[in-house]
Amino acid sequence: EAPKKANFIHAQIDADLAAGKNDKRVHTRFPPEPNGYLHIGHAKSICLNFGLAQKYGGKTNLRFDDTNPSKEETEYVESIMADVRWLGFDWEDRLYYASDNFPKLHAFAVQLIEEGKAYVDDQNAETISEQKGTPQKPGIESPFRNRSVQTNLDLFERMTMGEFEEGEKVVRAKIDMASPNMHMRDPIIYRIMKAEHHRTGNKWCVYPMYDFAHGQCDYWEGITHSICTLEFEVHRPLYDWFITQLMDSDYRPRQIEFSRLNLTYTVMSKRKLLELVKDGHVNGWDDPRMPTISGLRRRGYTPESIRNFSDKIGVTKVDGMTDVSVLEFSVREHLNKIAQRVMGVIDPLKVVITNYPEDKEEILSAVNNPEDESMGRRDVPFSREVYIEQSDFMEDPPRKFFRLGPGREVRLRYGYLIKCNEVVKDENGKIVELHCTYDPESKGGKSSDGRKVKGVVHWVSAKHAVKAEVRLYDRLFNNEDPNGHKDVDFKEFMNPESLKVLDNCYLEPFVKTAKALDHFQFERTGYFNLDPDSTPELPVFNRTVPLRDSWTK
Ligand code: ATP
Ligand code: MG
Ligand code: MG
Repeated sequence: EAPKKANFIHAQIDADLAAGKNDKRVHTRFPPEPNGYLHIGHAKSICLNFGLAQKYGGKTNLRFDDTNPSKEETEYVESIMADVRWLGFDWEDRLYYASDNFPKLHAFAVQLIEEGKAYVDDQNAETISEQKGTPQKPGIESPFRNRSVQTNLDLFERMTMGEFEEGEKVVRAKIDMASPNMHMRDPIIYRIMKAEHHRTGNKWCVYPMYDFAHGQCDYWEGITHSICTLEFEVHRPLYDWFITQLMDSDYRPRQIEFSRLNLTYTVMSKRKLLELVKDGHVNGWDDPRMPTISGLRRRGYTPESIRNFSDKIGVTKVDGMTDVSVLEFSVREHLNKIAQRVMGVIDPLKVVITNYPEDKEEILSAVNNPEDESMGRRDVPFSREVYIEQSDFMEDPPRKFFRLGPGREVRLRYGYLIKCNEVVKDENGKIVELHCTYDPESKGGKSSDGRKVKGVVHWVSAKHAVKAEVRLYDRLFNNEDPNGHKDVDFKEFMNPESLKVLDNCYLEPFVKTAKALDHFQFERTGYFNLDPDSTPELPVFNRTVPLRDSWTK
């Protein structure tokens, strides 16, 4: 695997280690909220967090950040675990749920109330937000800010028992209503929610806010470097403030922010991806057009290609947009090394070789992967009728068309030279088959008289062929930045031609050996993998990527 590129996070960790911080430990975590399937942006975070532990001989926790009961589900928990493992990472016995800390978080809120550092506010969220004001000028203190400790304890207890309705009361940290950092202006730490939680059921009526849970979980898990995306930079003083209230030694986790991954021609927020799934714009979270890890896997991406991509794009502090062709390059690069080659005709034109005996067939030998000799060779049956690609024939070709045309000659890959003598059409003038003759002396690259042909085409013996369905994918959106348009919904930019199903494809019999998700290169066409929708009667192949980046607008 490629060496990991150095980045500013390494520099920070090196400095912490040199200063002897946190007993020179490196302990990271990947903290998904189980409110959707993971996407390629999460993959970057996974590779980064687990990669840091690998580099520094440290550890990584998998933590479900499940503090918001209304959007979280067990299905998501399971898919997330499967995706992290598939990417090649292992949290071993370090699986945590933020919800396991609900009792400790509650006790910590009580502690802050007792210390006069938190209070119950009866105002609604809107009023609280209005009173926060603007960074330029101090906010207005809540009329409930100076309640006695006793009153606050009593009210929080009654909130916890379910005596009040949602929105009637919140608990706020008492920090500084004049802070230039808006997050320090008495942030809400607990709210009432009467929702069922996917793990704790109906046990709780009050739930901690994200900011009140995340850092504390880091602290209790012994995390040293808490990597998050750039939008949390302004939350860092609050993160540090809560940790300071908890600390009973020199140990302190450090929050480090990096820029999130954005990819062209797609959307990446779980909320939007969920919308695509729920409203049936795609066929589920693992639709091969989705930027989810499960979608990419089904599309034919390999874990290696995603890890290499993640390393290649690097880690920065500047928000930007990565071209999706960088991701496509990564998978092409990896599949070129590992994919079994086969011949597959996705848009068939029948060729009858009129001078080849009708009852004869023979076995030709083909290279499995020119990039990897150890993959050996395979047998390819040849007979009188073969399919070639429609696009490999032109009735009236330009001079530089080095494929088949009337009177022209090409080589059938691994086989013979054939020459087109007759174009057979139906009553509508549509070409239905070609009649060709072959040169029996031309097997395996030679020709009887030393003549050369420029064109080599792939083919499949008609009577041996496996009929298959092939799904060709294009970008899900036909706009580089579907999110970047004020007043236009991202769905307006969906590409109506993002899926094309070809149901009359013919593949070499070798593909009968394929198992779900196995990778192939259909020679000259692209990389494909076997879709789990396949049946014994009809295998289904997804095109992962074409051989070359030929996508033009
Ligand atoms: P989304 O907005 O897509 O729902 P999120 O940040 O709310 O993403 P989480 O489940 O909280 O999703 O994310 C888990 C981890 O993955 C977090 O540490 C987050 O910073 C990181 N992450 C999420 N999206 C990206 C991204 N696009 N690029 C890099 N890291 C990301
Ligand atoms: Mg989040
Ligand atoms: Mg989110």
